[in-house]
Amino acid sequence: MDLRERLLIQVSARDVYDAPALAAHPGSGLVFTGQAAHDAVRMVRRRGYDGPLLADRRRYAGSARVAGTAGLSAEWIADQVEAGVTAPLTDSGYIGRGDTGSLHAILERAAGWDGVIAVLPVHASWAAEARPALDTAITTFGGPVALVVEDAAMRRGPLPYPLLSAGVEALGALAAGADWAAVGVREVLRHLYPEPHEVRGGWRRGGARSALVTEPLAFVPVERLGREACPCSICHGRPLARLRDAPELEVNLHNSTVLHRLHTRLLRSTHRERWWQALTG
Ligand SMILES: [Zn+2]
Repeated sequence: MDLRERLLIQVSARDVYDAPALAAHPGSGLVFTGQAAHDAVRMVRRRGYDGPLLADRRRYAGSARVAGTAGLSAEWIADQVEAGVTAPLTDSGYIGRGDTGSLHAILERAAGWDGVIAVLPVHASWAAEARPALDTAITTFGGPVALVVEDAAMRRGPLPYPLLSAGVEALGALAAGADWAAVGVREVLRHLYPEPHEVRGGWRRGGARSALVTEPLAFVPVERLGREACPCSICHGRPLARLRDAPELEVNLHNSTVLHRLHTRLLRSTHRERWWQALTG
């Protein structure tokens, strides 16, 4: 089993019971998140889930996030392998603007392990003006990587690298040639929020439930859903607005079903980048 062309669903380790239903599609898989992510992997494997599974420790996020120079844990790699992950992820810290020390510390340590995916949680500048330096570092490393790109006001084109904790741009990454990408099941897992002192204008940190709509392609808070019919196999043509009062699992099943339908269309399209451009206008 490999991760090739997979669109994964990223969930919290606490979502362990509902998660397999969100990733039952053949092109899918799961990323569990947090300190207990490997325990969740072990549990769903025992319960017979046979799709790809990853464990993202996410030390790079939140108010207590660690820096990329903090060092990587060999125990964390061993725990994941023992639990049955498809490929282990490093427990990387955050790589700030211009922080080449962190970038190189993570890649140098990851180079000492075979088959380990180096997680690179980067400031948005690494996906914009510092992109050439990022590309060079990844090429020199030569092994598999997964990016987590911090939110930024600037718009940017899709990156051709695997993504963790992404929103709809996961499909853009796959269209641009990324091996795999993971969409967060809820708002907080679809973003890497900037430190408060870097924020201008404020970010919506979601406890709110959001549903994926296709025109335009975006996650929309359920209170703002309209009367348009959803053709997905969860909604059966009922209006999207019905999801305002639906349980969170129902909203997430709609989301994963719509995502997987788009993913299937992406894989069938003859020119993927053009397909993505047409979808996002
Ligand atoms: Zn639906």
